[in-house]
Amino acid sequence: MAAPRKIAFKTELKQLMDIIIHSLYTNREVFLRELISNASDAIDVLRFDSLTDKKLRQESSQWKIKLVPHEEAGTLTVSDNGIGMNREEIARNLGTIARSGTRELLDKLKDAGAGRQLELIGQFGVGFYSSFMVADKVTVVSRKAGEKPADAVKWVSDGQGKYTVEPAEKQTCGTDVVLHLRSEDKDYLQSWRIRQIVRKFSDFIEHPVVMDVEAEKDGGKRVEEEMLNSRQAIWLRSKSEVAGEEYREFYKHITRDVEDPARVVHYAAEGTLNFKALLFLPAHKPFELFSGQPRSRLQLYINRVFITDDCDKLLPAYLRFVRGVVDCADLPLNVSREMVQQNPLLEKIQRNLVKKVLADLEEMKSKEYGAYRKFFSDFGTVLKEGAYADFSNRESLADLLLFESTGAEPGDYVTLAKYVENMPEGQEEIYYLFGESRPEMEKSPYLEVFRQRGREVLLLTDPIDEWTVQGLAAYKGKKFKAVDRGELEEKEPSQSSRKDEKEKFAGLLEYLSGQLEDVEEVRLSARLTESAACLVSPEDGMGAQMERLLKRIGRQDDLPESRRILELNPEHPAVVNLQEIHRKDPDDPRVIDHARLLYDLAVVAEGSKVKDPAAFARRINELLLKDRA
Ligand code: ADP
Ligand code: MG
Repeated sequence: MAAPRKIAFKTELKQLMDIIIHSLYTNREVFLRELISNASDAIDVLRFDSLTDKKLRQESSQWKIKLVPHEEAGTLTVSDNGIGMNREEIARNLGTIARSGTRELLDKLKDAGAGRQLELIGQFGVGFYSSFMVADKVTVVSRKAGEKPADAVKWVSDGQGKYTVEPAEKQTCGTDVVLHLRSEDKDYLQSWRIRQIVRKFSDFIEHPVVMDVEAEKDGGKRVEEEMLNSRQAIWLRSKSEVAGEEYREFYKHITRDVEDPARVVHYAAEGTLNFKALLFLPAHKPFELFSGQPRSRLQLYINRVFITDDCDKLLPAYLRFVRGVVDCADLPLNVSREMVQQNPLLEKIQRNLVKKVLADLEEMKSKEYGAYRKFFSDFGTVLKEGAYADFSNRESLADLLLFESTGAEPGDYVTLAKYVENMPEGQEEIYYLFGESRPEMEKSPYLEVFRQRGREVLLLTDPIDEWTVQGLAAYKGKKFKAVDRGELEEKEPSQSSRKDEKEKFAGLLEYLSGQLEDVEEVRLSARLTESAACLVSPEDGMGAQMERLLKRIGRQDDLPESRRILELNPEHPAVVNLQEIHRKDPDDPRVIDHARLLYDLAVVAEGSKVKDPAAFARRINELLLKDRA
């Protein structure tokens, strides 16, 4: 028979494998976890399919993953009796990366340090290729369940860019992965080492992981199958019986994270609704948090039978960072995965899980504030999605939010509860300002009067905050109020001179209204103490921050025609001067010129761009020239 044709791996895959083989020297033992986990997945698929497919039922036997070290040949084989692969599947699954993220992963890998690469690879999932960390040749023989022994296939590669696929024979369905170990990795043939790795990484795998060992029996020696894993589904055990280490390994097993989880939530719901849940909060932001369709992905089991690791019905999207397992024995097993996901029980479970997760976050916030702050800086933005999307849990979510504030040091936060608690007598609203960055906002003219009156203002810099406060509308009966919008309700009692000022400026204000482009109204300001002028939006208008955001993402077409209000500070010398000029001669061209300048300065002060920079520069120049030495 002619030698089988060599097929090249997809370029990206070749590059990826080079990185895996050449730069990952730590933690290489994880290859065994990856292969056992693939074998276990393959058994899960066949077991599940045989529930509905009678033909496959004959295949289902004693589910088993067998490890076979072969001293002379220098090979370690991982065998399973799971679903197996046909010719086309083996080429697709092992010769390309079926996932679309390959390019992205590679780019990330190139600029990541060696320590980070393993984590990246883990998260993107190149499980099978980790074989090449310890093997210089890998042979995979597989037979798909339901097909004949002669229909098996054999895949061979040295990890150097090419692989071959040829027909083969295999008596049972499933897959044998044969690793030809590198000379420096021969210790993976030793049974103590294999035992150790299985216990460490795969102890809770539900199917037996076995190995042949020589045992003394009745004075003679004979070969026996030893079971290497304890097979305990840890979520079914009670909390007090599970060691911290077991939780951590299990978390790493299901998430491929290399770091320990930040929190573990393990509980059993009993009563009208029965299920077990083992949930984890990761200690850091995963890469996919904001890419792709935002959806939660918990693992769903029905009485220990794995159904799917992609169930988005168990948690809302805003809790998508939560990972873990839910096992509910009350769900029907004998229907398809899609049907299970439609079951109304899932909604009930979701309500229960959300309450638990939010309560756990609340506990972390009150008992381990430092850890919570770290958590919030990674996942706060996602949680805020819930604050406007999840009406039924709005209050608990609002309590979990942290904001920067004029009342807290930079980098520190306040809660809404704390803000309300600190509100002085007479303050009825929760003040906030949007902006790009805190240092920029601290210079904002909008804060002047609040600072003077000792009022705290929340400083919102996360683009989603705009929606969050709109969604929340109020907290404990106190409405949110943007300091750069609408009129300020609160009047300072000492400002009885206001009325006189109004009369004094009435002529100027009336004259200016309608003279300035983009300005709907010109009025006196109650919010300025130092600056001469500022721009505010009408109460129902779009804030400047939102406007800038839309412009930045190229959606200026979505902008409604902006109607801004120019507010003048009647105590500022420049404004007093302007009023004087107008009083003496309403037709003095300096009136409109100065007003334009004040307007442009207000635009600059809020961090936006002036419309006509040349005209702005000309006006400033003229002023400078007037002040000759
Ligand atoms: P993942 O397990 O995350 O999908 P892997 O690189 O570990 O990624 O495996 C790639 C694919 O190869 C799997 O999705 C599966 O389709 C197939 N595969 C790997 N090992 C086996 C096996 N033992 N039996 C059946 N299919 C397998
Ligand atoms: Mg895998």
